[in-house]
Amino acid sequence: MTKKRVVLAGECMVEFASQGEDSYRLGYAGDVYNTAVYLSRSCAQECDVQFMTVVGKDAVSAKLLALMESEKIGCEFLWKDASATLGAYCIQLDPQGERQFIYWRGQSAARRLLQHIGDPTVLAANPIDMLYFSGITLAILTPEDRAQFFALAALWRNAGARIVFDPNYRPRLWPDADTARAAFQQAYELSEIALPGIDDHRMLYNQDSAREVIDFLQGCGVAEVVVKDGPNGATLAVDGDIIQVPAVAVSQVVDTTAAGDSFNGAYLSARLRGLDARTAAEQAAKLASDVVQHRGAIVAM
Ligand code: ADP
Repeated sequence: MTKKRVVLAGECMVEFASQGEDSYRLGYAGDVYNTAVYLSRSCAQECDVQFMTVVGKDAVSAKLLALMESEKIGCEFLWKDASATLGAYCIQLDPQGERQFIYWRGQSAARRLLQHIGDPTVLAANPIDMLYFSGITLAILTPEDRAQFFALAALWRNAGARIVFDPNYRPRLWPDADTARAAFQQAYELSEIALPGIDDHRMLYNQDSAREVIDFLQGCGVAEVVVKDGPNGATLAVDGDIIQVPAVAVSQVVDTTAAGDSFNGAYLSARLRGLDARTAAEQAAKLASDVVQHRGAIVAM
C-alpha cells in the first residue's frame, strides 16, 4: 500500500514551562507541530506525515529533529539554517494564577521558509495528498512570502492535494485585522476542509454561531467545515448535512492548550483513513478530552 503524503507547514518553538522559582522545563510545541504529532500518532501506518519548516543547525534544533523522528514525522520539507534558530516562549503563572505566554519568535528560523523553498513550482512537482497550515503559518510570513506560499498551495491543489486550514487567529501576530481577513480569505478559497474555532470568527467576522460560520465558509467554497466550540463541541457541515458532535465531558480540565490542535490531528487522521466525518469528529473529541486533562500541548505517548 502506498502511504498518503501529508505535509503540515508551520513553526515549532522551544517551550520553557515554569516549574516554580527560576526553574523551567524545556519542551517543543507550536500549533501546526502539535497537530502533526497527534496526526502521526494515529496514522503513521497509513500516512507519511511531513513537517514543513525551518530550524537552526544547533543542539536545540537537533533535539526537535530527534523528537520528530520518535514521533515518525518526516523532514523531507524541513530546512536547516545556520544563521537562525527556533523561536521560543515561556509559560509563567501571573500573581492571579493565570498562565502568561511570553514569546521570542520575531526572528525565528521558520519565518525564512520561503527563502528555502525558493521557486514553488519545483517543490510542487513533488505530489502530495494533503497540505495543512494555519493562520499562524501565514502570520509569520512577510506579505511577499505569504503570496508565494499561496502559490505553492494552489499548485499542489491543482495537482490533486486537499488543502486544510485552521485560522487560529492570534491578533498580536498580525499588523491589523484587515490583513488577517485578506489572508484568511485566500486560504479559505483554496481549502477543501476548514477547521475554525468559533472564537476566531467571533473576533474577526463578528459571527456568533456555528451556522453563521458555516454559511460564510460555504460561500468561500469550502466543502467540509468543522466549527469547534470548546466544551460545547463541534458542528460539521459536509455533503449537505449539518452534524453536531458534543465534547466529551471531563471531570477536571487541567490545561486546554492544544485542544483544537489535537482535535484537528485526530480528525484528519480519521478522514485520511477513510472514516466518515461524524466518526472522525467523535474520535477527535475523545482525543481532545484526554489532552485537556494533561498539562502542556503534547501529552506523552
Ligand atoms: P480551538 O482552540 O481550535 O478553538 P476548541 O477550544 O474549540 O478548539 O476545542 C476543540 C475541541 O476540543 C472541542 O470541539 C472539544 O471536543 C474539545 N474540548 C475543548 N475544550 C474542552 C473541555 N473543556 N472539555 C472537553 N472537551 C473539550
